[in-house]
Amino acid sequence: ALFGSRLNSRGFDLRDPETLAMIDAERGKWADHHWQGGPLLAVAGDDAARVGEDVVNPARPGDHVGRIALSSDADIAGALGAAAIWDAAPETRAEVLNRAADLYEAHYAELFALIAREAGKSLADCVAELREAVDFLRYYAGFATADAPRGVITCISPWNFPLAIFTGQIAAALAAGNGVLAKPAETTSLIAWRATQLLHEAGVPAHALQLLPGPGRQVGTALSSDPRVAGVCFTGSLPTAQAINRAMAENLAPDAPLIAETGGLNAMVVDSTALPEQAVHDILASAFQSAGQRCSALRILYVQEDVADKVLTMLHGAMDELRMGDPWHLETDVGPVISAGARKGIDDHVSAARSDGRILHRLKPPSRGHFVPPVTIRVSGIEAIEKEIFGPVLHVARFKAEDLDRVIAAINGSGYGLTFGLHTRIDDRVEHIDRHIHVGNLYVNRNQIGAIVGSQPFGGEGLSGTGPKAGGPHYVPRFRAAGHRHVAD
Ligand code: GLU
Repeated sequence: ALFGSRLNSRGFDLRDPETLAMIDAERGKWADHHWQGGPLLAVAGDDAARVGEDVVNPARPGDHVGRIALSSDADIAGALGAAAIWDAAPETRAEVLNRAADLYEAHYAELFALIAREAGKSLADCVAELREAVDFLRYYAGFATADAPRGVITCISPWNFPLAIFTGQIAAALAAGNGVLAKPAETTSLIAWRATQLLHEAGVPAHALQLLPGPGRQVGTALSSDPRVAGVCFTGSLPTAQAINRAMAENLAPDAPLIAETGGLNAMVVDSTALPEQAVHDILASAFQSAGQRCSALRILYVQEDVADKVLTMLHGAMDELRMGDPWHLETDVGPVISAGARKGIDDHVSAARSDGRILHRLKPPSRGHFVPPVTIRVSGIEAIEKEIFGPVLHVARFKAEDLDRVIAAINGSGYGLTFGLHTRIDDRVEHIDRHIHVGNLYVNRNQIGAIVGSQPFGGEGLSGTGPKAGGPHYVPRFRAAGHRHVAD
């Protein structure tokens, strides 16, 4: 068996040449496939009334991945009318979610091809993404109980983990027995469509899981402002979370929860006792893996003055070794960003830094596709960064030993609190910072991405999210009805 233990998924060992060759060959069968997706509804809608959109590969504009039909207003109305809780025994729900995990694994080659071509992810990222999706399904299945569900939950998911986060939100809501209306990110609708088919194939009834691809301002707005919706689960940007929160406050029952995971201005502190080789290795992964498109990604490195020249020289040398390109190629480390629009936003930020003479080091981009070359930018501190830049952009600040507490206060002062990395050999310092830093996930002497379901619950505080943490024991209970239910006598 490729995948051994029930928890967590073993995934694939990409260092093994035979495994790599097998994956490459299997995935290759989907290299030219065109997927044709659209809404998946409990009551059939009118195909002819839908607008279709072409899906292209962000790394290779000539690669036509397929076509997605977008939800019409009638589809949305029909889905809201047909949505209902999943009225099955908890054992059945758990069994179905576990079966879905097995189906995801069985379809790994198609999913890898789709994630690479629609979302621009490298093979290593595809493997991690599938593992996380499968882990969410099996982990949340273990929380299926006879407690009452809330009702119908709207799940609005991001493009940066088009399979894992899409699946995690839905699996948690379903484990608790809710019905789900899923609104996937516009740029990764085909992955969501294929995953929903697999969930249905595993046994999730059509009324308990409907997929509504389309723009946030149409589909997302409708599904988070309808009084028939009992709660919203959202991962994405802070402004969108705030807009959803307002729409819910005006239209939904006052006890309807918003479970939101938003962004971060994640920092790492490297002090003079850190092992520079290890710090550089972990900075590289934290800032540039997945082209920096993780909400956990490192955005600002604070390096102690005494070791800054050494660490930065090593870091820039290591950056030169990164291979940027089409994620379909096995040697690629850094793929494209998701879209032309995303690229423009990041490029504007880098251009402003360039005109101020603050670029420390920058790679050269490939000529085609939505690529942003990894870059380091000098800043005085976190206060100088106006907003989260969702790409391979690392800000760097130097600090003096006596200023460490001021650095921690400034990081807390950003209001965000998702991940934080610390490289030090001083145990007291770890304890001190642990006590004072306001973040959801603190990582010591390692990278700060890739939280593992079940052992590293993931989520932030402040502007970074509402909690409870995904992949932790408090997540599914939030999807159950709170308090007493009225019983007529
Ligand atoms: N859970 C992911 C990680 O730990 C990040 C999730 C996200 O980017 O939304 O890297």
